[in-house]
Formats: sequence, structure tokens, C-alpha cells
Amino acid sequence: MIPGGARGPYPAPGNDLSRGRDGRRRLTPRADVALMSGYHSPQVDVAVRLNTNEAPEPPPQAFVRELEAAIAGIDLNRYPDRDARALREAIAVQHGVGAEQVYCANGSNEVLQSILLAYGGPGRSVAVFEPTYALHSHIARVTGTGVIEGERDDELLIDERELARVLTAGSRSGETNPVVTFVCSPNNPTGRAEPRDTVERVLAAAPGLVVVDEAYSQFAPWSAAELLADNAHLVVVRTFSKTWSLAALRLGYAIADAEVVDAMWRVTLPYHLDALKQVAGVLALRHGHATLERAARLSEERGRLSAALASMATDVYPSDANFILFKTISRDAREVWRSLLRQSVLVRDVSGWPRLESCLRVTVGTRTENDAFLAALAVALD
Ligand code: PMP
Repeated sequence: MIPGGARGPYPAPGNDLSRGRDGRRRLTPRADVALMSGYHSPQVDVAVRLNTNEAPEPPPQAFVRELEAAIAGIDLNRYPDRDARALREAIAVQHGVGAEQVYCANGSNEVLQSILLAYGGPGRSVAVFEPTYALHSHIARVTGTGVIEGERDDELLIDERELARVLTAGSRSGETNPVVTFVCSPNNPTGRAEPRDTVERVLAAAPGLVVVDEAYSQFAPWSAAELLADNAHLVVVRTFSKTWSLAALRLGYAIADAEVVDAMWRVTLPYHLDALKQVAGVLALRHGHATLERAARLSEERGRLSAALASMATDVYPSDANFILFKTISRDAREVWRSLLRQSVLVRDVSGWPRLESCLRVTVGTRTENDAFLAALAVALD
């Protein structure tokens, strides 16, 4: 039987081309997509860019040289390895899991999208704890999945009572309980990692998959990857965009039970991961020690930046990541953001987000960039 009646779902009323004012025929997007605003973080040309949590330094020179040599050996006329075997094996070794437990895609955003293409969809929902990484609910909506919003506690962490409320919200309203519960740890934009017992509690209570987004894992005191062996419904998502200094490459991955990874492959386009990226990922992993050293240096710099911020007219939130959330006390945050921009320093304005009134988020940059930011902030707060 064809869903939607004898004629099938297309064309149906409202789905037809309609004539615009210029007389040409156009199709309007899906009603919910038409209402979406997309996801934007301003990309402005400034001297000091501290708004998207990238690594401030380029990747190690030795890696770049090896990559150049490897690119020369790629058969550009051939499709890449569809299963990205070498890359998945290299990632699997890093995490002490099997390659069948590793899924790779173009940035961790695409990994998240694959999870929702496989497990989300109409009639299903996900749980998020706001304020958190906006793409979790955005990708859910794009895939037609409902979003159940929980609120973080005063410390901006996941609270036990709220967790229980959110995970059972569907049963009470006669709808479905979340098929995916997102835990962002360390949480963007607030900065703190969830304690291990919180994630264990989520795993015990969640009615579906638990996706722990660890984009900033190298700065965190612990990783949910430790819990994979005991939990077939846990997915840990990582990226090469931050500590690995490879944001331009667009590479991210998930580690999970082989059946979950298999489901994600089913919704993936053929040859989605280009050959260059596959080679670059393998080489990057060989330079993992350099990455860890950088993370350690950035964490030290974060301490210096937090202390400096705390000595100014701001409230500083603790951070387990490469960025810091702070509240401007005496000045309007939007005004402070504008003043910083006039001084060619770009940070992220999150003051319009629920629960984050008067808050800005700054990425930890190089010492020189951080000094420039602090000097500009002093002017902005004056
Ligand atoms: N998860 C979190 C928590 C992030 O902050 C980001 C980047 N802002 C991503 C995922 C996406 O990273 P990418 O797609 O570059 O891997």
C-alpha cells in the first residue's frame, strides 16, 4: 500500500509548485524546515578570533610534511575506501576497541546527524539539557525528531530530579520517551564536564541511546569511553576539530557497540569520507603526543585567563574545556561584545540564550591572543 493514499504522498495539497511574484514556479520547503533559522556563528575578519573553540596553533610541522607526502600517493581518480578501514582501525587502537565499533564522518556534527538519521525521525524524540550545544536539538529537528528540553541546575550541570522528569516526560504526556539522550561533556557553552556518577545515572535511567558528546575530551578529567564495555547503549562522540588543530579537515568519530555503528553506516552516503581526510586522520593519530602536550599547555593558559577574568568585573564559570564562560557584571554583555569587536577581538555572544543572560564565551587562544583579549575587555568594561 502506498502511504498517503492511492496517489502516494506526492504531490499532495501544499506540496505543489506555486507561482511566485516573478511568475516562476517554486516549491516551498517542508513546513518545519521553512521555520528554521539554521546554525550560525559569525565569521568576521578580525585580528583575534576566539569565538569557535578551535585550537589556536596549526598542527605540528612534522604532521604537515607527512601529510603532503601522503597526498601525492592518493589515487585521485578512484573512489576512497568506502569503509575507511585504516582510519577506523587506527582510532580503534587508540581506544582499545574493535574497528567495528568505530564510525567516522565529516566532523562530529555529521556523526550526530547519522545517529539521528538512524534512530530519530517522526514520532520519536531526543532529550537535551539546556543550555547546551545547539546542534543537538537543531539536527534532531532537521531529521523530524522531537526535542524534550531539560534544564540544568544552578551549577549548569545535569540534575537528578530533572533527569528523571525528562526521561519519563513522554510516558506522562502519552508520547514516546527519548530515543536518544544527549550529554555534552564538557558542556558547550558552559564548560564543565559531567561527573562520572551523573553519566552512570543517565545510562541507568535512559530508555534509549545515551550520546556523550566529548568534543573537548582532552581537557576533561575523565571520559565516558571508560563505560563503553558495560553499556551497549552508550555512544561516545569525538572530533579532530579542537585539540587536534584540524578544524579545516572536518573529521569526527563515534565509538559505540558494533550494532549501533552498523545502524549508522546504513544511513551514510557511499564514499562519504574522502581519501585525503582518511589519510590525514591516520597520520594525526601518530602525533597524538603533540596534541596532548598542547592540551596541557592550553589548560594552563586557561587557568591564567580565568584568574585574570575573575579579577575584572566579571563572574567566571569553572571550565574543563578550551573555552571559558563569563558574565559581565557592570556592563551589558551585548555592548561588551560590540566593543570587543570594534577592537578586532571576536568572542561568542551567548547572552541571548536562556539561562545565560549577560554571558559571553571566550576560547582559550595563544598567550598573545589572550592578552589582546584581556586588554580589549578592560577597555570594554571601563
Ligand atoms: N560537539 C560540540 C560540543 C561542539 O562544541 C562542536 C563544535 N562547536 C561539535 C560537536 C562539532 O564539531 P565538528 O563538527 O567540527 O567535529
